[in-house]
Amino acid sequence: MAQLELEEVTKVFDTSAETIVAVEELSLDIDDGEFIVVVGPSGCGKSTTLRMIAGLETVTDGEIRLAGERINEKSPKDRDIAMVFQSYALYPHKTVRQNMAYGLHLSTDLDSEEIDHRVREAAEMMGIEDLLDKKPSSLSGGQQQRVATGRAIVREPSLFLFDEPLSNLDAKLRKHMRTELSRIHSEVGITTVYVTHDQEEAMTMADRIVILDQGSLQQVGEPKEVYHEPVNKFVANFIGSPSMNFIDVELERNADGSGRLVGQDFDYSVSNRLLQQIDPSVSDVVFGIRPENARIDPDAPVDGSVETTVDVVEVVGSDNFIYLDLAGKEFRVRTPSEVEPAEGETVRITFDEDDIHLFDSASGEALA
Ligand code: ATP
Repeated sequence: MAQLELEEVTKVFDTSAETIVAVEELSLDIDDGEFIVVVGPSGCGKSTTLRMIAGLETVTDGEIRLAGERINEKSPKDRDIAMVFQSYALYPHKTVRQNMAYGLHLSTDLDSEEIDHRVREAAEMMGIEDLLDKKPSSLSGGQQQRVATGRAIVREPSLFLFDEPLSNLDAKLRKHMRTELSRIHSEVGITTVYVTHDQEEAMTMADRIVILDQGSLQQVGEPKEVYHEPVNKFVANFIGSPSMNFIDVELERNADGSGRLVGQDFDYSVSNRLLQQIDPSVSDVVFGIRPENARIDPDAPVDGSVETTVDVVEVVGSDNFIYLDLAGKEFRVRTPSEVEPAEGETVRITFDEDDIHLFDSASGEALA
């Protein structure tokens, strides 16, 4: 187990056609035993970050330290890091047992008995004892995933790296494996960096989430923190499903310090408590509210609610997702199942002021 530090790590790919800054001055301090999930859209630099940590990609600038030691120049096999790939990367002609033991034969001087003991222990942990003599081609995707993880566990590394390890599994198995991997992590306690584009996976598994966009760090925080206090519109949009509603509005201030958020078909009164957080020179803002924080309420006061039209009602079990039309834009509300307005009906929606997010229109930075 070890602490992992990235200090202003940059990766530039210089191809004949273009120069791509895949990761830009990324700094992270990951504690011993932490489970870190790196998320972001396709191309944001997640895999490149992981590959630099593993030593599969050189670092253009900056430093990576494991347990306090600089590892930039160390070869991958000397880093004491185990990586699980999306493709599993199992040797097709070896049995599960041989796949799991191979790395230990190569990189340690453990005797066969000790290796066998470790393989059986890891197989037990992953629930694959019955598969040890099978070849990967005869296994299901989920079983191959377990073997790939078991092979990483066997090595008892200082650090685990996972690159989208569940993306080839169906939705149900993916959810199950999330729980399994979280359980394994709490059993072995090895520092883990896990990459995914799936924000739900990140929210359910991570001690802390690292959110990247276009090679740049947007926010690092516990799942609750990035959900409740996103630092910018990008994070607010990326975290949470269905995603946050955004409306461009003008902030109009009253003499008493309160004010109104005014947009197309949108006029909402806000208190001075909310507005005092915002620099008086700011007027162009983006209003944000999560679907689960908006309510359909026929009794809401006119200046504390907005009128919209119901487009679609989607019944998803305990909740309903209501898709509304607000000035020609989709507005999503998640309601308890007993709230089921008719399609085409005009309804009033309202919000608690504490749940409102405001972002600077130009920079996207959170204001409140
Ligand atoms: P995905 O979720 O699609 O795997 P990602 O977030 O993992 O994306 P990376 O694979 O790290 O993103 O890629 C980051 C950027 O670096 C992209 O613009 C990608 O095209 C570029 N890139 C990655 N590897 C190379 C390479 N070997 N040569 C040139 N450009 C590369």
